[in-house]
Amino acid sequence: MKRQRKKKFSIKKTLRLVIPLLFIILGIVLFINKDNLHTYYLTKTTGYDELTITTIKDNNLNTAILNKKYSKTLESIINSEYFNSEYLDEYLDIEYHDKDNFLSNIDALLTLGYTSNDINLIYNKLNDTSINIIINNTYLKDLSTIINLSYFKEDNLERYLKYINSNDFDSETAIIYVNIGLDNDYYSNVSSIEDPDDILVLVNKYHKLSADYIPSDLETINSKYQWYGRSNQLRKDARLAFEEMCEAATKDNIYIYAGSGYRSYATQLTLYNNYVKRDGFAAAETYSARASYSEHQTGLAMDIANKTDFISEGDKEYEWLINNSYKYGFILRYPKDKEKITGYMYEEWHYRYVGIDTAKAVYDSGLTYDEFVAKS
Ligand SMILES: [Zn+2]
Repeated sequence: MKRQRKKKFSIKKTLRLVIPLLFIILGIVLFINKDNLHTYYLTKTTGYDELTITTIKDNNLNTAILNKKYSKTLESIINSEYFNSEYLDEYLDIEYHDKDNFLSNIDALLTLGYTSNDINLIYNKLNDTSINIIINNTYLKDLSTIINLSYFKEDNLERYLKYINSNDFDSETAIIYVNIGLDNDYYSNVSSIEDPDDILVLVNKYHKLSADYIPSDLETINSKYQWYGRSNQLRKDARLAFEEMCEAATKDNIYIYAGSGYRSYATQLTLYNNYVKRDGFAAAETYSARASYSEHQTGLAMDIANKTDFISEGDKEYEWLINNSYKYGFILRYPKDKEKITGYMYEEWHYRYVGIDTAKAVYDSGLTYDEFVAKS
């Protein structure tokens, strides 16, 4: 009995010494490994791998990332030569793309001044060639705005940037002008028209018809709307609309006539050459189209006359046409003060048939047809 009591007492005493000792040892172990434990904790809570967490801690960025969403972009760039702690917030917002040069590209874009929003848009909308073009150009504040325009054409990106940087136009105007082709001289960078029969066909100094194009549905306009016995033709729909318009004008005591409608390639060639001989090359270029580049070859354009001459501003017929022609599908094709855009002097007499819906839309827009097409 005595011995047992003594033994029990002895175990209690030992435990009293050992337990605090164990706690002290545990404390020392935890203290020595606190860094590892912290890393373990961050790995679990943030989703980053251990290497990334170590780099984050080395850069004293733990608090900055602690309550943020995991970012694969940050995880990738932080362990690369492209990491710059200044851009931490941007890295967190840039969506990761598993593509070549992604890290060096986002570094280049951030260095140029683009934001994470810009970069996400660039990567979501543009191809690698475009991304390189952006990186090799100066920063453009409106880049995101431009990319989001419905008439932004990626193939034109390099031209947009060049044109914006060398002109004073606002970015949206610059995009329209480049879409028209105005960043190149007239008659340069020309494309051949693929569907010349389309009623909406755009013919200008950048879009040419083939020499042998002749519309298949040309019709001669009723003689009562012909100017002094001429025999002008238009394509069927345009012919009907033109006659309807003449008739409506008559009801308002306005008398308009077909002065010059369809012209073949050969006719246009002779006409242009004669103008050059008469007025010189530079002058002829402002009012006469080279063969293949004339709207008259489409059979959809009409130079309108009154009893004495082709229509000019100030004539009551001019006033009537400006206010009514769109109702019949015709638009004034070469308006005043738009010479640089259309490539032609103001032609008060030259109307183009595009159909009623488009004519109304062009009329409402206040744009030239070249701009209207460039925006669509
Ligand atoms: Zn004309």
